[in-house]
Amino acid sequence: MSLQLLEEQLLEELRFLEYLPKPWLPEKEGLLDVAIIGGGMAGLAAAFGLMREGISNIQVFDECPEGFEGPWATFARMRILRSQKALVGPALDIPKLTYQAWYRAQYGEEEWEKLYKIPTLSWMEYLRWYRRVLNIPMQNGCQVTLIEPSEDGLQLTIEGKPSRMARKVVLATGRGGFGKWIVPELFRHLPKDFYAHTSEWIDFADFNGKEVCILGAGSSGFDAAAEALEKGASSVTILEQRQVIPFINKFASTFYCGITEGFYDLPDEAKIGFIQHGFDTGAPPPFESLDRVKGYSNFKVLTGVEIEKVVEREGSLILETNRGQLQCVFTVFATGFAVDVHAQEELRAFADDILLWKERYSESGSLGNAPYLGTHFEFQEKVSGRAPALKHLYCYNYAATLSHGNVSGDIPAIGAGAMRLAKGIACDFFTQNWLVYLQRLHAYTTPEFLAGDYPFIL
Ligand SMILES: Cc1cc2nc3c(=O)[nH]c(=O)nc-3n(C[C@H](O)[C@H](O)[C@H](O)COP(=O)(O)OP(=O)(O)OC[C@H]3O[C@@H](n4cnc5c(N)ncnc54)[C@H](O)[C@@H]3O)c2cc1C
Repeated sequence: MSLQLLEEQLLEELRFLEYLPKPWLPEKEGLLDVAIIGGGMAGLAAAFGLMREGISNIQVFDECPEGFEGPWATFARMRILRSQKALVGPALDIPKLTYQAWYRAQYGEEEWEKLYKIPTLSWMEYLRWYRRVLNIPMQNGCQVTLIEPSEDGLQLTIEGKPSRMARKVVLATGRGGFGKWIVPELFRHLPKDFYAHTSEWIDFADFNGKEVCILGAGSSGFDAAAEALEKGASSVTILEQRQVIPFINKFASTFYCGITEGFYDLPDEAKIGFIQHGFDTGAPPPFESLDRVKGYSNFKVLTGVEIEKVVEREGSLILETNRGQLQCVFTVFATGFAVDVHAQEELRAFADDILLWKERYSESGSLGNAPYLGTHFEFQEKVSGRAPALKHLYCYNYAATLSHGNVSGDIPAIGAGAMRLAKGIACDFFTQNWLVYLQRLHAYTTPEFLAGDYPFIL
């Protein structure tokens, strides 16, 4: 099968499902029904889900250049995805839209059988195809800097572009989409030339022949180490706070239908129980990342490390630690993201009004900054009536995990999340405006037949 044939069959399959259904929301000039911020896989899947619900007056905005959304072709330094290859993910429930169908159409069944895991750049290629074949309305180079309430819903300020109005807005902004990465306290006095976070572009060739330190022994830490070593760093040291590098990925056991569909309905303490246990045990690096750095004698991992002091000396950093002194020219923070609404600039108009877990459930512990979301991923108000527009703002990113489970972060269940979101938005549009639809019912006058044509009707 060729890709062209697959595309033809896919579009036919979609027509069998009555795709695209006819639009049903009242039109208003200049007003989008839904704006999606972020055109990574979550934003694409959300857009497709909405279009399947007959909500096609939508627009996806992404700050990245076209084809470089998300981590895959930018800062993901691993060569292959961590997930198993036969995942469904953003394809929702459409077989011919899966990565597997796309791959087999181009390279054949035998190559598919031989494929071990999905190459990272190939996944990006697939997402580019997904966007093209489904004709997802997306504008690149659009950084949304502010979301505010407006008469008909929400107003988006977009850097260097005219602002846009939308009835509803979906945040599909990825892992750091409800917070940001944080510079560890001890490094804050240093010029930026001395450090970067793994989610930034880093040219490791600059450190050829030089020493690099990496904070954090998770997947991103090992992938950064591998790239630094491959680009000729003279030494690479990973510093890890934990005494032992996690080696069991608890969350890998959480991809099954029951948890995907049922997590939202769990009581709060049960949700905390699941997510906290996964976090406490930590996310191990995949063995493929460990294998990549195995042969380098100039590489080591120090565990149980506490950094006590960081000073700059003659163009280098001296890190004083409980395991001795280290010197490097550059430090990479493989420290993940903090969930913190106040760090999310574009949400500043709502930051004080969004209900958080710690305000609803006092035993949320370190997870308490996560937003306490409604059934359809909508934010909820801390104080009822203070920010009613929040019900039009949907959090379909990593921060939704504590409320909804893993349906808005990793690939496998992203499609289940997109369908929940899209059906939820369709439901909200209808229930929040039912009077409009009742009036539409009353105003409907198209006859099925004319009584005069049937003389037997007396
Ligand atoms: C390095 C790495 C490797 C991963 N590997 C795997 C894996 O193997 N398997 C797996 O299941 N999961 C993996 N994940 C987790 C998850 O699948 C990815 O994070 C994935 O990218 C999530 O998709 P997303 O669409 O939610 O976010 P993203 O792909 O990050 O997309 C979010 C988009 O939002 C845009 N954006 C954000 N804010 C704004 C704004 N204000 N205005 C405009 N645009 C904005 C960004 O430019 C970005 O393109 C990985 C994550 C990382 C970081």
